[in-house]
Amino acid sequence: MMKIGSIVNGQERIEDNREIVAVHNPFDNEKVAELKLATKKDLEDAVTISFEKFHSEMKVMPAHQRADILRKAADLLIDKTEDFATIISKEAGKPIKYSRGEVERSIQVLRFASELAKNIPGEIIPMDAAIGGEHRMGIVKREPLGVVGAITPFNFPLNLSLHKLAPALAAGNTVVFKPAEKTPISAYMLVKLFQEAGLPEGVINLLIGTGEEVGSPLVTHDKVAKISFTGSLPVGKNIRETAGFKKVTLELGSNSPNLLFEDANIDYATTELVKGAFAFSGQVCISAQRIYVHREIYAAFLEAYIQKTKALRMGDPISEETDIGPMINEEEAKRAKEWIDDAVDKGARIAVGGERNGTILSPTIMTDVDENMKIIAEEVFAPIVSVIPFNTEEEAIQYSNDSIYGLQAGVFTKDINRALRVADRLEMGGVWINEISTYRQDNHPYGGVKQSGVGREGVKYAIEDMTEIKFIGIKIDQN
Ligand code: NAD
Repeated sequence: MMKIGSIVNGQERIEDNREIVAVHNPFDNEKVAELKLATKKDLEDAVTISFEKFHSEMKVMPAHQRADILRKAADLLIDKTEDFATIISKEAGKPIKYSRGEVERSIQVLRFASELAKNIPGEIIPMDAAIGGEHRMGIVKREPLGVVGAITPFNFPLNLSLHKLAPALAAGNTVVFKPAEKTPISAYMLVKLFQEAGLPEGVINLLIGTGEEVGSPLVTHDKVAKISFTGSLPVGKNIRETAGFKKVTLELGSNSPNLLFEDANIDYATTELVKGAFAFSGQVCISAQRIYVHREIYAAFLEAYIQKTKALRMGDPISEETDIGPMINEEEAKRAKEWIDDAVDKGARIAVGGERNGTILSPTIMTDVDENMKIIAEEVFAPIVSVIPFNTEEEAIQYSNDSIYGLQAGVFTKDINRALRVADRLEMGGVWINEISTYRQDNHPYGGVKQSGVGREGVKYAIEDMTEIKFIGIKIDQN
């Protein structure tokens, strides 16, 4: 069992007078690690060191060196894939095949960041476009911001952390990193990996602690230039209200819709939507939550979808055979089951699943639902999906947009005109055509509209959000 603490200026803070909290495997309750929680002083030190190291290290570090460190980190992570995947499975309860997939994506994030560190371009402004602007030159540069506060959730503890850390470093920032207290072990290993890759001490400072104790004061700290947050809507709202003048990126929740028109390929769509709704027990921000199916194919779709869902294997996340592991804790599993019961009370039907055994909720398909049920109106964040018939394109668009969220959607049709028409009208940060809402690559812009968030990730776009534009003007002729 590991004993870990925060890392400030390269030193682990594990003195005895700290509060101790354990991380348990959500599947079998095995104690995976003991955490020595960060104190307010650790937070203060972490920000102070990050601020100093921004000026002494990162602001002056050439791009090729930042790129090398990121490249080296990617290479090290390849060698440690199995170690990281195993820890993610144990701390988050994620089935091992998905944990490996997360590590593989994380390697790509580091590689994209390494390549982009060498390519943060500026531009020259045609100053003579303005009357009286003759004999002037305008240069636009992108500069790092300073200290970035990175606050991450439990569900992709490695990859979502890297979506903040890698672009922050590529752009020349320093980072105070506060991972989810439920899953801090892979985060701790990641900071060690950066040390091994040659990142100077104190450029990333890790705080292992709770949202209230260290997350909140990080958000309000004057020396922090930007908060990059991924997590739930209530915390995101609070950050938006308290961050003051800082830049803020918020990657929040959703109740993602997937729309299947009458010409959709049912076999392909059902196979993909089984993963789309149930991968990591639906604890994915773009998990397929609402599936709108044209009435012509509704019965055939539902039948095939139920059969494929029944074939999923539940069990120990560390087993190669497991498709569905536990939810993050029993409280969440109980909450999800209550939402199913609430829908049933209001007239919904369980087509398959709906059973809870400790932390495991069986993959659940609901029908006969309406927009007043929590499983439709709110982010369900559990292995629960609803299948809903529609008659017209207009109806499908209206239902999909009837949400406080707008992160990603999937549209399934062979008609390219309809696909593009619908994509234009969906109020989302991203729309996939003939792909599930749950699919994400690490190099496309990713983020939400409405209450799904503010700002974009996807390495190139995160670098833009983690830099500030500086204008430098020159008057050429001084006579
Ligand atoms: P959460 O909001 O409970 O916690 C996220 C992080 O915020 C944790 O590190 C937590 O300690 C910290 N935190 C809590 N209170 C805080 C406060 N007052 N100030 C500052 N930090 C605070 O989320 P979670 O349960 O870990 O993750 C699930 C949520 O994350 C879901 O809503 C999901 O949709 C969302 N999510 C969004 C994306 C995306 O990219 N849009 C990706 C993954 C997860």
